Amino acid sequence: ESITVKELAGKMGREVGEVIKKLMMLGTMASINQEVDFDTASILGGEFGVDVEAIPPEEDPTEIPEIEDEEKDLVYRPPVVTVMGHVDHGKTSLLDSIRQTHVTSQEAGGITQHIGAYQVMCQGKKIVFLDTPGHEAFTAMRARGAQVTDIAILVVAADDGVMPQTIEAINHAKSAKVPIIVAINKIDRPGANPDRVKQQLAEYQLIPEEWGGDTIMVPVSAHQKTGISDLLEMILLVAEMLDLKANPNRLAYGTIIEAKLDKGRGPVSTVLVQKGTLRIGDSIIAGTAYGKVRAMVNDRGEKVKKAEPATPVEVLGLADVPQAGDILVAVDERTARAVAEKRMAKKRTEEIKQSQKVSLDDLFKQIQEGNLKDLNIVIKADVQGSIEALRQSLLNIKNKEVRVNIVHAGVGAINESDVMLAAASNALIIGFNVRPDGNARKAADSEKIDIRTYRVIYDAINDVEAAITGMLAPEF
Ligand code: GDP
Repeated sequence: ESITVKELAGKMGREVGEVIKKLMMLGTMASINQEVDFDTASILGGEFGVDVEAIPPEEDPTEIPEIEDEEKDLVYRPPVVTVMGHVDHGKTSLLDSIRQTHVTSQEAGGITQHIGAYQVMCQGKKIVFLDTPGHEAFTAMRARGAQVTDIAILVVAADDGVMPQTIEAINHAKSAKVPIIVAINKIDRPGANPDRVKQQLAEYQLIPEEWGGDTIMVPVSAHQKTGISDLLEMILLVAEMLDLKANPNRLAYGTIIEAKLDKGRGPVSTVLVQKGTLRIGDSIIAGTAYGKVRAMVNDRGEKVKKAEPATPVEVLGLADVPQAGDILVAVDERTARAVAEKRMAKKRTEEIKQSQKVSLDDLFKQIQEGNLKDLNIVIKADVQGSIEALRQSLLNIKNKEVRVNIVHAGVGAINESDVMLAAASNALIIGFNVRPDGNARKAADSEKIDIRTYRVIYDAINDVEAAITGMLAPEF
């Protein structure tokens, strides 16, 4: 960890001036309250003939230390897939037809329960689909620190081509570093033109294999149920390359996919188990909720006694309703209760503090404190031309402390999805001749996202430049 020059001098029994002088000789200009890292401190210690030892960082009472798995205990686990794409391009239809064609009908009469995720079989191997299509759910979870998706299926209608939400989905998946498989849907339609879709996608660095790229693109029709098996096989192929593994023989670790309060049953949460095995009777904690697993139901509506990695199950037994994206872990009862209480207390103080994300106003402070190395920006504008002009000028801002990244740029009003992406990637949003809609404004409020709108490109560039260099005039 780090220590200020003043504290270090005190601990070594030296004058602050002496320490600063030594630091200068070592090539570092430091002030009295500046923090020095452990390496620097131990070099100084050497100079002054004192032993410097690092104090192990204090354990955070709201965290449960992760169990380290050994390589030898890891075994193959099924991939977890999210379906994304523009509205009406067939995400829901595709999920339905996958379920109908690949959940064997003798199982519970072929009826799948909606629990937020389900498993299908292909070539004797399982694939898990998250049942809430769209990047909103995906990014909302990511904003809470949960990473559950291994592979994103980007659905593009062959008769409509790449649309604004297609681009959003691409950027959301890229920002999460999740590989994309493209499903070119509705190939049964008269106006279908898969080649045009491929051309359009190439503009976003998604190049099909037959054109020398490495993006898998599968033509499908959710209506006629064609291409579905091909798509599933491709998912398994990508999964194999990702070398997905987990240790089933340990306490469970997973993510809350959905949670609700059921009138009769109390808090009901769908958990995707990611590591270990969850069992009836296990003590669990998820966010600020804790309890004991009373009962578990799988995606086919059957009661189960255990759930292994990559298995979605509905869990009864938490005393409260957790939030989607909360991490669930099985621990001993005492820890579960103690940590949940600590988290509750922390949540209360945080609500009071209303912790801020990046904003232009405190940008310079964050840069100075070394908290910010990348300035992430989401751009929305009324026309493509303005986006390009803004993008170029923003990327041209040269500063050695921070690098400007454009996480997403699109035409249209600032929407909720932009805000969630900004929250997940700690970005600020710049709107040019566009404004946030009502939902975006609400989300920005609760996620503490800084939205700046401009009518003159020069003003936008100026503000960002000024903020980076600490010259931003205060807002009144
Ligand atoms: P979502 O908004 O992306 O979930 O899209 P939906 O699954 O709701 O589909 C939107 C519309 O496209 C619906 O009217 C579907 O019936 C239709 N649709 C979906 N897939 C296909 C397909 O493969 N072929 C045709 N012809 N229509 C489709």
